[in-house]
Amino acid sequence: MVFMYSKVDLAKYPFTKEAQKYIESLSLDIDDLISTEYSPVLRRGVERIIEALESGYVSYRGNAFVELLSFPIARLFVESLGDEYLRRRYAVAESKRADKLLAKEEDAKLINIVRETFGWDIKKALQRAGGRFYEYKLRVTNYLTFAPYFQDRYWKLVNRVLDEGYVYLRKMDVARLVSEAVKWRLMEKKGKPPDLPPEMKEMVNTIRIKLEDQKIDRGIDEGISEVSRESFPPCISKMLSEILAGRNISHHARFALTSFLINVGLSVDEVIQIFSNVPDFDENLTRYQVEHIAGITGGGTKYTPPACNTLRTYGLCEKNELCESINHPLSYYRNSLRIRQKDE
Ligand code: SF4
Repeated sequence: MVFMYSKVDLAKYPFTKEAQKYIESLSLDIDDLISTEYSPVLRRGVERIIEALESGYVSYRGNAFVELLSFPIARLFVESLGDEYLRRRYAVAESKRADKLLAKEEDAKLINIVRETFGWDIKKALQRAGGRFYEYKLRVTNYLTFAPYFQDRYWKLVNRVLDEGYVYLRKMDVARLVSEAVKWRLMEKKGKPPDLPPEMKEMVNTIRIKLEDQKIDRGIDEGISEVSRESFPPCISKMLSEILAGRNISHHARFALTSFLINVGLSVDEVIQIFSNVPDFDENLTRYQVEHIAGITGGGTKYTPPACNTLRTYGLCEKNELCESINHPLSYYRNSLRIRQKDE
């Protein structure tokens, strides 16, 4: 079925393929955007990011054209700053906006967005189980792309209604999964941003000042806060994949993974969320252990992961070429980040 998106739909869901096609059809370049006609769009672009920084949520405003065009502008500004904390915070804030709007969306539109933008196999399906009504069914492989990132037991596959390769979901579940997909898309780096004209540089500078103030206020560590999963050493990547797939890992591996993630800038809550995928997850115990490793409790010592030699004796080493020049997983991460940044 051909589904027609209104301007309001595009403004509400600027991450969709249809919204991107519409924006491309306008053939706007940066010089167009600095004309007074587009001032409200640029201002709203800045505002989206400031909202993300201040409240962790991007609101939905009335003017459809401004709302739609300000989305790529905000992304351009985020990329220009090249700050991983900002990229994550903005991605989370936009995903919350998407979650809220999608949860109230009509069925046909929601299904169309899920199919066309994300390529997921979703169907309308009425099912009653355990006192709940489920309105949709989603192919289990699509479900497992993002559900393992959620901490609540509700999302564990063993707790879901599953039939013939489909997971039954409520509308709010579909909205939550889509919003997670939006978050991960927005966290992807887009390549080198174009040079900005002075008018835009000034706006980016306003955001930079706000960002730096917030980092100071919240004590965000600048050391190696650029969390880039692609730069993780193979040993850590393997441990992380095991956890995300819901498999248990050894005590030594848990310590190495936790201390690594904390040292590359993940928060305690983010690490807990990752560990929530394992079958024996106990939030209180995990929090206690993660906070201890992060130096928040206990003697105040922030632990680092064991050196490569130690990891080798535990049978956790998965050496590759880049490992030849290092003797610690954090050195691998720093070197790999440097190489990637140079390439970009
Ligand atoms: S050499 Fe070190 S960083 Fe590389 S996989 Fe082995 S333990 Fe990990």
